[in-house]
Amino acid sequence: ADLSALLLSRIRDVADYPEPGVMFKDITPLLADPKAFDALTEALADVARRADATKIVGLEARGFILGAPVAVRAGLGFIPVRKAGKLPGATLRQSYDLEYGSAEIEVHAEDLGAEDRVLVVDDVLATGGTAEASVQLIRRAGAEVAGLAVLMELGFLDGRARLEPALAGAPLEAL
Ligand code: 5GP
Repeated sequence: ADLSALLLSRIRDVADYPEPGVMFKDITPLLADPKAFDALTEALADVARRADATKIVGLEARGFILGAPVAVRAGLGFIPVRKAGKLPGATLRQSYDLEYGSAEIEVHAEDLGAEDRVLVVDDVLATGGTAEASVQLIRRAGAEVAGLAVLMELGFLDGRARLEPALAGAPLEAL
């Protein structure tokens, strides 16, 4: 409860960003506060330990900022899942639907394998589309999904329900 209150107090609501009608959750005040950033990354590392994860996947771009220190804290490797076209090596690619159009994400194929249990880390779960595609990517790479851990879940968008089939029983933790 204390942790949630601290984290929530460092998230700024920005109205009409990136477009009219959207209330954007800006995490930069939290990143700028060393106590809050420390508490957040430790709590996420604890999720990784409890899930027996062997690797952390971070989703571009804020999932990189959170996922990298979480990986170091938990003593695990960090794997970036990037928007298509950014990774130099051989990749697996997964497309997913947006409100208008679609998007594609990629991971280096050699970074994940059958021996891995992967915890996906991101800042905000909104519709769940990005997280769902990342879970599909991890499975296609032959690895197991240990769970999804986010700072914040926008409950009214029901990403949790959308993700349930993809997660197949793996935990979704929102701090
Ligand atoms: P989804 O695919 O769940 O609809 O969107 C989640 C992705 O968009 C995440 O990678 C997240 O970083 C970003 N996102 C969507 N809404 C917000 C928001 O209000 N605040 C932040 N910080 N990120 C958001």
